[in-house]
Amino acid sequence: MTVYNDALADYITQTFARPDKVLEKVTKGIADNGMPAITVRPEEGRFLQLLARAVRARRVVEIGTLGGYSGIWLARALPDGGRLITLEMEPRHAEVARSHFALAGVEGRVEVRLGNAHQLLPALAAEGPFDMCFIDADKEGYGAYLDWALANVRRGGIIAAHNAFRRGAIIDPQDTTDDTQAMRAFNRRFAEEPRLLSTVFPAGDGMLAGLVA
Ligand code: SAH
Ligand code: MG
Repeated sequence: MTVYNDALADYITQTFARPDKVLEKVTKGIADNGMPAITVRPEEGRFLQLLARAVRARRVVEIGTLGGYSGIWLARALPDGGRLITLEMEPRHAEVARSHFALAGVEGRVEVRLGNAHQLLPALAAEGPFDMCFIDADKEGYGAYLDWALANVRRGGIIAAHNAFRRGAIIDPQDTTDDTQAMRAFNRRFAEEPRLLSTVFPAGDGMLAGLVA
């Protein structure tokens, strides 16, 4: 039996991950700028923060910034001198995210890099190794992002990836879209990858988390 449902999700948000004024403003800023409402849920952000802290992350890469919401949770996990490098290909998203990082007072530890992650990542490898990589961009790119993360996150670090459930489509046999197929293959690979001790944190749209062996 499972008891988890929307009401319990809200309970967890209210109890463990209640958004503060800044995060509320950021959520509103994302909507006001006409950007999609696809940020992680607060309890997913909280979970990312916990993972980052648990491995004492100092250097984190995020792929897919949007309005900086998940980035703020991650940045808040970093110690002084820590750094989050977040990759975003939409100039407007990057601009809004930068203003949100400033609003949150974490602009000194966050760098938004504008461009296609597939093009930015090879050069970023030279700045590693990293303690954590959070994947949350184009679903068809996830396989390549995981290859990169496995090569550039240190042993004992974390690789996380969002949207394991694809709003439930992942287990809908009627759904054969490219993105869903890509996510199915990705989940399977994430589960079976011998270098990862992995699972899905079943909040929001499903947060894959793997500890690098
Ligand atoms: N992590 C964010 C949400 C990211 S939404 C949060 O939870 O707050 C996905 C973002 O990835 C979008 O802003 C989209 O523009 C960006 N994106 C998609 N494909 C990309 C690519 N190939 N390179 C860089 N960014 C990409
Ligand atoms: Mg996502």
